[in-house]
Amino acid sequence: MKSFRADVEAMRDNLIHWRRDFHRHPELGFEEFRTAGIVADHLRHLGLEVQSGVGKTGVVGILEGETDGPTVMIRADMDALPINEANDVPYVSATPNKMHACGHDGHTAIAMTVASILSQQRDQLKGRVKFVFQPAEEIGVGAQAMLGDGVLTGPRPDVVLGLHLWNDLPVGDVAITPGPFMASAADFVLTVIGSGGHGAAPHQTHDPIVAASQIVNAAQTVVSRNVGPLEAGVLSFTTIHGGDAFNIIPSEVTLTGTIRTFEEHIYEKMVHRFDEIAQSVATAMACTIKLDIRPLTPAVVNDVQVSQRLRSGFAALDANLTILDNVRTMGAEDVGFFLHEVPGVYFFVGSAQRDGAFPHHHPNFDIDEEALIVGASLLTSAVGDYVF
Ligand SMILES: [Zn+2]
Ligand SMILES: [Zn+2]
Repeated sequence: MKSFRADVEAMRDNLIHWRRDFHRHPELGFEEFRTAGIVADHLRHLGLEVQSGVGKTGVVGILEGETDGPTVMIRADMDALPINEANDVPYVSATPNKMHACGHDGHTAIAMTVASILSQQRDQLKGRVKFVFQPAEEIGVGAQAMLGDGVLTGPRPDVVLGLHLWNDLPVGDVAITPGPFMASAADFVLTVIGSGGHGAAPHQTHDPIVAASQIVNAAQTVVSRNVGPLEAGVLSFTTIHGGDAFNIIPSEVTLTGTIRTFEEHIYEKMVHRFDEIAQSVATAMACTIKLDIRPLTPAVVNDVQVSQRLRSGFAALDANLTILDNVRTMGAEDVGFFLHEVPGVYFFVGSAQRDGAFPHHHPNFDIDEEALIVGASLLTSAVGDYVF
């Protein structure tokens, strides 16, 4: 594996400038018009074949090599979050209630840098690199929108590579975990239906608040009693709404939440048990339920061989890197849709600031920008390993 650290260092100012510019002008899912415009102009300027409006606001650029070879796809996401930024930095978000609080500004800037470096060395490139700038990751639908517009055809990639800047890890740590890496995500709406009445006469009602409380408690056994102790699963209730007044027992309570797993059979089991428990407890409380579960994104599963190739390549590149192979998160990422279709790797690049890092999606989230240099270098080397 070849090092591109010097090439990235030569582009350091551009890389940081792009990231800060995107940070200052965050755009939510499917509204990434400014970002996509800058990306498309950059790729066109480099001489790539560019397609805009793929999956609404996505951009695809193809860098054709001189001779034939594999097609390597790089995926970067571009969208921001509906958060009011609380940082006091020169590049603070210029838009209230919109913020790059996940690092996607950095991902976009990194992929633009990789495109610059590889296009400078196009005469040695065997095969092609397909740059996929994806919208709407945070709302979990951007990858699917791009798939619907045929992003994996003409040409179909042989391998998919992508990264996420990761504030749970310090700069210099890189996590490449083979197999399941990030969880699948589903959300649910559970309606508990009883019959309301006077708060002073509960015996005349079928109280959905008491039934909902019992269901929340009983559902905790799905993970503790039905998912194996060495397996992973999450069932979280995240909202609960019912009632309008202190002296009225309502007729309905609505709960929402999320179910996360790494493996399909565990997901199926959790859904089955959750439904069974909610039904049975509601029946015991003389209520009924309606449970709607909606799968959002599949698990992010890294190809074992590609993981191995990147891990050993990266380790040989830079002795200062710490390559981890056992990091996993129940967080979800819609890059899982691409990795479900094409073998590849999604890896984390440590980006925590030394003086204390805020977590992703926090109003004070920020990255150590050295992580941009590390990320761009590693991603270029990874692609280079396939096409040079
Ligand atoms: Zn995020
Ligand atoms: Zn993210």
